[in-house]
Amino acid sequence: MTNIRINRQDGAKIPPEFFERRQMPTEMNCWLSERDGDLILHPRLPDARKLYIEVTTGCNLQCATCIRNVWSDPDADMTRATFECILEDIDGLPDLERVIFTSFGEPLTHPGILEMIEAVRKKDLAVTLGSNGLMLKPHISRELVRLGVDRVMVSVDGGLAETFEKVRGTYLEQIVENLRQFNAIKRDMDSLFPALGFETVILKSNVAELTEIASLAAQMNASKILVSNVLAYTEDMFKERLYGYEPVEPEKFQAWATRADAWVMWATLDLPRMHWGAERRCRFIKDKAIVVGWDGKVSPCYALSHNYSYFAVDGTNKKVSRYELGDVHKQSLAEIWMSEDYVRFRSEVNAFHFPSCPDCDLRETCDLRLTNEGCWGWNPSCADCLWAQDIVKCP
Ligand code: SF4
Ligand code: SF4
Ligand code: SF4
Repeated sequence: MTNIRINRQDGAKIPPEFFERRQMPTEMNCWLSERDGDLILHPRLPDARKLYIEVTTGCNLQCATCIRNVWSDPDADMTRATFECILEDIDGLPDLERVIFTSFGEPLTHPGILEMIEAVRKKDLAVTLGSNGLMLKPHISRELVRLGVDRVMVSVDGGLAETFEKVRGTYLEQIVENLRQFNAIKRDMDSLFPALGFETVILKSNVAELTEIASLAAQMNASKILVSNVLAYTEDMFKERLYGYEPVEPEKFQAWATRADAWVMWATLDLPRMHWGAERRCRFIKDKAIVVGWDGKVSPCYALSHNYSYFAVDGTNKKVSRYELGDVHKQSLAEIWMSEDYVRFRSEVNAFHFPSCPDCDLRETCDLRLTNEGCWGWNPSCADCLWAQDIVKCP
């Protein structure tokens, strides 16, 4: 630790060696806050690294697992003007590495999605596209290769046709055919990219098919399966959940070899945690991610980007209110990112300065817990969050 002297006349002076050792800018603004008697300096740096853009809340499917079954938010597309605001603001975030076009909606239903991707690629940023795969037709695949999209994540929630149809309400064979053509186009265009990944939400009714899903992933040259538990928005889905309070034996899986044209590499299966534990860590905050909704409003994560209800780990039905930290029509993304509330919120989540509702003696009677408010620390509260437990995951 560095010893610094503070007095009322001169304030505080940080020695230059500290800046050098930490490779910090020579000059910067900070927010100063206090937490449990500690003074905390929060650098105000435009250092966001990942940008999630929700181009639409509309979708061509109606999956049993989807948040859209319970929310009251409209089906709406991001307007060109909103996207232009985001695009303009990207230059103010010099550490930005990746833009992720995915959300609670199907990005490929947005008529302007390819132009949006092209505009982002012109800024030399990596692009991930999340999709249910139904509209991944050859003309789209060709464009994704041409534009240099480097990852496409497709949702595959069943290894057998019947199970897949039950969850997604569409035919697995249609998705598989689209992926075959996607791979053929990559070969024709002599490109290893976009790399293909699967996203799978495991349920009691499909978990036995992980082997089939992995085998399909191998056939489709997918380099990764991101497995998540279900965030139960309905009672039916709560009954389908696999996680709980008690440790559950994790699925055992080995990596498989995948072929990416001339390359053969090991593919990975990224499994979720299966029970509520002491360790809490928010990937959105750790990865310095920022989420912009279809209407230009900014939230810190998916979990706080809509108004909805879900069942917490012990079955408590929780009403979540969207947490808006700014609006791209009114401020730049960098201003929103460095604002007092956002900086303070990230600091609270980084330190995970929240209680754990599922471990609290008052959990069954506490009214605060029925919303995303907490009893101490910052609000909204992350005290019940399944994402922070790695029980629920996203790309
Ligand atoms: S594809 Fe995704 S957004 Fe569309 S209904 Fe299914 S889960 Fe919801
Ligand atoms: S909000 Fe506080 S009192 Fe209420 S259940 Fe959570 S930890 Fe317990
Ligand atoms: S811990 Fe959960 S609610 Fe809190 S910021 Fe992270 S994802 Fe959002």
